[in-house]
Amino acid sequence: MESIDVFVVLLAICGLGGLLPASIASKKGHSFGPWWIYGSVLFLIALIHALVLGQARRCPHCAEGIRQEAKVCPHCQRDLPAMQPSLVAS
Ligand SMILES: [Zn+2]
Repeated sequence: MESIDVFVVLLAICGLGGLLPASIASKKGHSFGPWWIYGSVLFLIALIHALVLGQARRCPHCAEGIRQEAKVCPHCQRDLPAMQPSLVAS
């Protein structure tokens, strides 16, 4: 019984720890769910990764995540507008 309790407590701590990198990543426009799992499993690595992560950019046509420097969307092949100055500055 006791080992199950310890397991549940550890799981809860990992789950709560995963919220931190997940919230940082989601503020930068990345999806919360996968980052929560990532943060729960590899807290320290995910936290550092979330902190150095760039702002996510989305295609205005198909809303798929794309690279900052992309000029053509790899998902829908449409031309993308030039990057907004606010994104370039940060
Ligand atoms: Zn697209």
